[in-house]
Amino acid sequence: MNSTNDPVIVAKDIHKKYGDIVAVNGISFDVRRGEVFGMLGPNGAGKTTTVEILEGMRDADSGEAIISGVNVKDDPTTVKAMIGVQLQQNAFFDKLKLTEIVDLYAKLYLAKVDPVEILSRVGLDHRKNSQYAELSGGQKQRLSIAVALVNDPIVLFLDEPTTGLDPQARRQVWALVKAIQENGATIVLTTHYMEEAEELCDRIAVVEDGQIIALGTPDALIDQLLETGFKPEKRVREATLDDVFLNLTGRDLRE
Ligand code: ATP
Repeated sequence: MNSTNDPVIVAKDIHKKYGDIVAVNGISFDVRRGEVFGMLGPNGAGKTTTVEILEGMRDADSGEAIISGVNVKDDPTTVKAMIGVQLQQNAFFDKLKLTEIVDLYAKLYLAKVDPVEILSRVGLDHRKNSQYAELSGGQKQRLSIAVALVNDPIVLFLDEPTTGLDPQARRQVWALVKAIQENGATIVLTTHYMEEAEELCDRIAVVEDGQIIALGTPDALIDQLLETGFKPEKRVREATLDDVFLNLTGRDLRE
């Protein structure tokens, strides 16, 4: 096993093709314990493929993926016990109650959990007897994060966790991600929302055509751009349209 200073995630020169399509073309990075690491990039850049290789869901053609000192290809079972993967919304049964859904996933992981306690961690304990179909979009997203927590993972993978949410629900998910990080988990997050990456990520990898074209803290990446003499096209205002919306509609969740 590795020491506490070693990176929790190591991606080493990963390559993956689907037929003639090169999806990942030599990606390498480390993620430190307790970091939120963002993967940004246009559609089809290779983010999901990279993340699935780290999760042990997909084999790389070459290169290595290591989670907490364990080679994912050699020992996927040990890796799966250490990680949490946020499932997409359609992975759930509409008619099951939330406690039953959490229970089901806990059984899959042979984890002993109190479903209500897990639901309370994502602010859904008050809906414990509701059926999945009765939840709002934001509540469904939070449930999908809750089930990823049943095995108390040391690494959590979140794939576009706020896509389709209103600004209030998005902020609720951001607070949840920060709380999970404060609890000690390391998080890999893919997102197409730059303000989300800026708010949550300690470091970001920008991926294009299967390669990392920039990697650093959000501040460092912005500083690098400004050093090139970059001037924004639009004058930057002190408030955003997001601020206008939240000021008009309030910060409370509409659930
Ligand atoms: P998005 O932001 O749209 O989720 P992404 O960065 O996650 O994109 P990937 O899903 O990893 O990108 O896709 C990388 C490339 O591999 C794309 O050209 C995609 O069409 C292709 N690809 C992904 N999955 C498969 C598959 N199962 N079979 C064939 N090609 C695939």
